[in-house]
Amino acid sequence: KVVCVTGASGFIASWIVKFLLQRGYTVRGTLRDPSNPKKVDHLLKLDGAKERLQLFKADLLEEGSFDSAIEGCDGVFHTASPVRFVVNDPQVELIDPALKGTLNVLKSCARSPSVKRVILTSSVSAVKFSSRPITPEVVVDETWFSDPDFCRESELWYTLSKTLAEAAAWKFVNENNIDMVVINPSMVVGPLLQPEINESVEPILNLINGVPFPNNAFGWLDVKDVADAHILAYEIASANGRYCLAERVVHYSEIARILRDLYPTIQISDKCVNDEPYVPPYQLSKEKANSLGVKFTPLEVSLKETVESFREKNILDF
Ligand code: NDP
Repeated sequence: KVVCVTGASGFIASWIVKFLLQRGYTVRGTLRDPSNPKKVDHLLKLDGAKERLQLFKADLLEEGSFDSAIEGCDGVFHTASPVRFVVNDPQVELIDPALKGTLNVLKSCARSPSVKRVILTSSVSAVKFSSRPITPEVVVDETWFSDPDFCRESELWYTLSKTLAEAAAWKFVNENNIDMVVINPSMVVGPLLQPEINESVEPILNLINGVPFPNNAFGWLDVKDVADAHILAYEIASANGRYCLAERVVHYSEIARILRDLYPTIQISDKCVNDEPYVPPYQLSKEKANSLGVKFTPLEVSLKETVESFREKNILDF
């Protein structure tokens, strides 16, 4: 079968491409600049890439840009979306590419009758940010949907971009009779296939470099498990709706503690950015993810593999 992965060179997408090739699929990967070796070399080296990986140039903001990559595909994995937590112009840098880009990709899917299912990479960002109080007792699940006004008021621009994109996607697929399954991962760590660091593993590098950690609790999980979940959501006919993913929800101080246990000789940061009480972890339901057969790698293993991968890529030398 032929499938398309948008933003193929990204952290998560590269693992999706790798696993799809391993499973015998022909993969069409889209990226903005297929002539950039930093974006493509790691993909071209994957097992099966020579025979079954085709790269297409496509930009989220260009109408019709994804038509040729998607035409004739059985499945489409839409992962491309800017991941940046600090921006100057949220509309231009995050919201337009996320929202217009998602609709652009879905319009190409609607024009291609071969497409049987779309897997959208959304985020827990599109799930848990609303005025609903979050306490340690609360279990966040797939029935929650982030509130765009809350995101705007809190200036959570990346969160807003993912919320608007997922909401628009559901509206579009319902109106156009497209089968879509959505994956909502928490913070993703684990080994990098791409040569350069991405936003969600950067906090780990910061901790190793002794930078004080944010006073916040997030869900965390392994990139390989995220990729697996995408493929399960595509291959299992009964998969439906959204799937929240996290191995564990922990405060940054706990990530620092795990890293200190793993690397006792390194000066891992033990300072929080402020003196306020630690934001307590919440709970994220794993029920739906478990029902899909998603397995979660222990966070300790994922963090170790993240750090080892920094070493391999010469992002860190110690
Ligand atoms: P990366 O930054 O590694 O990858 C993002 C991809 O989006 C890149 O391949 C990039 O393409 C593409 N992209 C960005 N802007 C555009 C544009 N204007 N046109 C075309 N492509 C564009 O991020 P991740 O792998 O971490 O994230 C992948 C997806 O997973 C995103 O949708 C993200 O929101 C979601 N996600 C990530 C989480 C995480 O913790 N990492 C958690 C939850 C969800 P190019 O190669 O051309 O630059």
